[in-house]
Amino acid sequence: MNKNRVVVWFRNDLRVHDNASLFSAVKKYEEVIPVYCYDERQFETIRLGLPKTGAHRAKFLIESVENLKHSLQGKGSNLLVLKGKPEELVVTVAEKYQASAIFFSEEVTDEEKRVEVALEQNAWAKGIKTEVFWQSTLFHLQDLPFPVNQTPEVFTQFRKECEKFVRIQKVFSTPDAINTPAFTDAETNEVSLKVLGLNEPEIPSSGVLRFEGGESAALGRLQAYFWEQDLLKVYKETRNGLLGADYSSKFSPWLALGCISPKYIYWEVLRYEKERKKNQSTYWLIFELIWRDYFRFICKKHGNKVFQLKGIRNVEEQWSRNESMFWRWAEGQTGIPFVDANMRELNHTGFMSNRGRQNVASFLVNDLGIDWRWGASYFESMLIDYDVCSNWGNWMYVAGVGNDPRENRYFNILKQAQNYDRKGDYIRHWIPELARIPGFDIHQPHTLHASDLRKYQVSLGGNYPHPVVKMKAFSY
Ligand SMILES: Cc1cc2nc3c(=O)[nH]c(=O)nc-3n(C[C@H](O)[C@H](O)[C@H](O)COP(=O)(O)OP(=O)(O)OC[C@H]3O[C@@H](n4cnc5c(N)ncnc54)[C@H](O)[C@@H]3O)c2cc1C
Repeated sequence: MNKNRVVVWFRNDLRVHDNASLFSAVKKYEEVIPVYCYDERQFETIRLGLPKTGAHRAKFLIESVENLKHSLQGKGSNLLVLKGKPEELVVTVAEKYQASAIFFSEEVTDEEKRVEVALEQNAWAKGIKTEVFWQSTLFHLQDLPFPVNQTPEVFTQFRKECEKFVRIQKVFSTPDAINTPAFTDAETNEVSLKVLGLNEPEIPSSGVLRFEGGESAALGRLQAYFWEQDLLKVYKETRNGLLGADYSSKFSPWLALGCISPKYIYWEVLRYEKERKKNQSTYWLIFELIWRDYFRFICKKHGNKVFQLKGIRNVEEQWSRNESMFWRWAEGQTGIPFVDANMRELNHTGFMSNRGRQNVASFLVNDLGIDWRWGASYFESMLIDYDVCSNWGNWMYVAGVGNDPRENRYFNILKQAQNYDRKGDYIRHWIPELARIPGFDIHQPHTLHASDLRKYQVSLGGNYPHPVVKMKAFSY
């Protein structure tokens, strides 16, 4: 055993900036062995025959891992890339290279925790130490003003207490150089979508943003959104948008894989407030990051309840498991344009706006009465920004089995369409077969006269479906 060598096992922390485990490894050890392992279980099939990780997300992940490798190589290091079970393979690597310890980031949910515990057991059985680092949130676990199992159930209370008592920690500096023993080429080979059992997704040129995985693209996005385009100062007014690259930060895919650190974003917001402008918008981005923290701490507090039908409030309710109806929702064939356009965007790009997510989720659970976990699983498979805690937390919330029961999470789709897509441009973008219908009428083709439908070349039940539920005409 070489007591000067350590393995850094990268998980959802695919970055070299503000990375606690990498920083500590470089500080404490002479030689660092960076490792990433594609966990084969993340590429299995889940309920409804869905791939647990769909092609869009897998592509984003591969790009992120490759970018990390590139950054590490730039520091004289490298990345050893594996595919299988991390709790076995990472320990085998540590053994092979005679490392005396494995450093990694701590996760909170069941599947990830099991891997962590098994890895720790395997490592300790071989005399290899392990050290875990908490680094996925803005507020550090140890800085919370309450024990995590007493995290307030109501977001506002959580936020206010944290804002009052917690100071956001400084970022860890990026190591200039990392000393790493040589690997063979085979140990650093790129894993392809094919190896993961997936086909290259078709990315339409009309997506909101070309999401490219990796820390470089993440930092580039922040640079563009904050500093070059100066969009942070209007974030609060634009954040409910639906169409285009810049109505919101689009940080979520990079945050989910840890390509960018929430603390780094926080300190950049503070710098922007000092150098450019401080207003409600600049605060609001931090406010949204606190939602992200909140769901993570809630998941840590409640464990597997967040994946269960009754949720964390133990709500008894009858849910439908009508598969054909579910697939009409998933494929964007409900006959309700606002729902369909959002689902089609998700299917084509792996992304959907927050406004869209709230509406399609509410439609699935409130209007169709379908088991909310089916929706959450569909999002898990499709979203490039899938994050266990944000996804299952938000779904529970919309389904009324999560926190904050006081709020009514029902979204009136046509009213929402009126507020957020009055002219129908979003629908025109994603449902071209309806594009000829002028103005708001595009949101309710079923209310048009037959002669108008003919004029606009729309055939209900032909090139566009009849609505799956009765929708009252919306007067505007
Ligand atoms: C049903 C449903 C499922 C969702 N699933 C996910 C998911 O798997 N992964 C995910 O990152 N977000 C999820 N969200 C939250 C939110 O929709 C996205 O974070 C947001 O749309 C991402 O776009 P953005 O980065 O431009 O956000 P911005 O508006 O620019 O916000 C900045 C950041 O704040 C955080 N944030 C914003 N809103 C929320 C929220 N409601 N909950 C948690 N964090 C938030 C995100 O990290 C986001 O990147 C879900 C929301 C709903 C309603």
